[in-house]
Amino acid sequence: MEEKLFIRNVLALLKRRYRGGMRTSLRHRGAWQMLVATILSAQSQDAQVNKVTPSLFRRYGSVGDYASLEPEELYAYIKSIGLYKSKARSIVGAARGIREHFGSRVPRTIKELVSLPGVGRKTANVVLSDAFGINEGIAIDTHCITVSGRLGIARTRNPEAIERKLMSITKKKEWGNISHLFIALGRDTCRAHKKRCRSCILKNICPSSDI
Ligand code: SF4
Repeated sequence: MEEKLFIRNVLALLKRRYRGGMRTSLRHRGAWQMLVATILSAQSQDAQVNKVTPSLFRRYGSVGDYASLEPEELYAYIKSIGLYKSKARSIVGAARGIREHFGSRVPRTIKELVSLPGVGRKTANVVLSDAFGINEGIAIDTHCITVSGRLGIARTRNPEAIERKLMSITKKKEWGNISHLFIALGRDTCRAHKKRCRSCILKNICPSSDI
């Protein structure tokens, strides 16, 4: 099947499975909270992040609040999250960068976002898509890598190469949704260590299906 048609069918089936699309499960209000939650979620579960952010966001609100802190002052709020010390440094560093270079407003381009400490391309894509509704790229995480590989979309585990490939065969308006749909499938069905092809909505078109 031609690639663009194949991915169109994949997305149509996934939207049927996940009722039209997915949104981030990270609780947030506004772009700054989305950036903080996304930094905290690296190699951690969203549910775990959602347990710590309510008290953190109650205590510290604005970019300026965080920019004025020392990273150690965040430890008590986020210590149940893996890598919390380096994440605290990233959050405070990002706040200081936003205050200094972007007038305390979260920037709206990948180039500007990745200039901040602790912000990589995946985090930038997540923030742009989920906080601003801007599709400049596609956030690729480990689930997206697994699902893309099994679907035969990309024969690489390089996130940027997978992102470029997906961008070349899909419509821009779909980019934010692709990431959420692939993550959802990777979490509940196409797991890295145990795929569940029998119950997968893609089983009849997936080249890696066991069925
Ligand atoms: S059919 Fe199997 S390998 Fe293919 S996407 Fe579904 S779970 Fe993954």
